[in-house]
Amino acid sequence: MRTFSDDRQLLHAPERELHNGEWVPYAECPSRMASIAARCAAEPAADFGLEPILAVHDAAYVEFLRSAHDEWLAAGRAGDAIGYAFPVVRRRALDLQRIDAKIGQFSFDASTPIAQHTWQSAYWSAQSALSALDAVAGGEPRAFALCRPPGHHAGADYMGGYCYLNNAAIVARRASAMGLGPVAILDVDYHHGNGTQDIFYADGDVFFASIHADPVTDYPFFWGHADETGEGEGAGSTLNLPLPRGTGWAGYEPALGRALEAIAHWGAKFLVVSFGADTFADDPISHFRLVTADYRRIAERIAGLGLPTVIAMEGGYAVDALAANVEEFLGGFG
Ligand SMILES: [Zn+2]
Repeated sequence: MRTFSDDRQLLHAPERELHNGEWVPYAECPSRMASIAARCAAEPAADFGLEPILAVHDAAYVEFLRSAHDEWLAAGRAGDAIGYAFPVVRRRALDLQRIDAKIGQFSFDASTPIAQHTWQSAYWSAQSALSALDAVAGGEPRAFALCRPPGHHAGADYMGGYCYLNNAAIVARRASAMGLGPVAILDVDYHHGNGTQDIFYADGDVFFASIHADPVTDYPFFWGHADETGEGEGAGSTLNLPLPRGTGWAGYEPALGRALEAIAHWGAKFLVVSFGADTFADDPISHFRLVTADYRRIAERIAGLGLPTVIAMEGGYAVDALAANVEEFLGGFG
């Protein structure tokens, strides 16, 4: 399968994150991507510019991502920019001055630091996704975007969960604008793709289905519950299938069947897959029980839809097994 990435995606390297009350090494590390890249011959991403990114993300948010680390240094700080104050109730258009306030305004958690090269890596991660779309629009049945940093937790104007630009949403919106739709997004990362859901929640043009750990027990907690089904013109175009910790293939397969049936029933003509390998039994931050061979089964069922498909890499933190799991998944598409 044609695969796209850019080495500048490796530059983003935050040192640490706050996890369960402790500072720990940043789980979304460059070696994740490097381990996958070593196993697949990726083509360099082309540059499609800012326009497709701004079709999803607010201009003020994009400007923030570009300048935040410089502002952090200008404020006399060292290391990675990280927030500590977040507007829980609602956000409104305030002319905020301090970098700490801006970080809070444009994020929903403290696990997404901005390091020196974050913008560059996020930009090229999005361009890798757009390059995969370009290949599929040009006639490839499917293509893989080796995205890093991942994207599915990022909303139109906020970062979170290691995500800055929502690569899957950028592809979906552009595919829709190119007339390739109706577009469906299937999110099979361990965590709910709250940013993707939010971007399309009131948008009837894109169907979003997600299979993930029950947010009652798992990040991102506040979204991904089964009663979230869309609103306005998007009513009925969101499907959440939360599963309990400990889920293995026996519990996963029926949910996958439901999601695929819903995508087919909705009349999708183009598919974007947010693929996370953090559903793996040995993932250090997750709690499902899938094994390497299950990734081929998941892919075979997705391929059964017979849709042109862009696969965007999301999570997966068992670095030693990551490349094998990705390879198994991609191999299942035939
Ligand atoms: Zn995840």
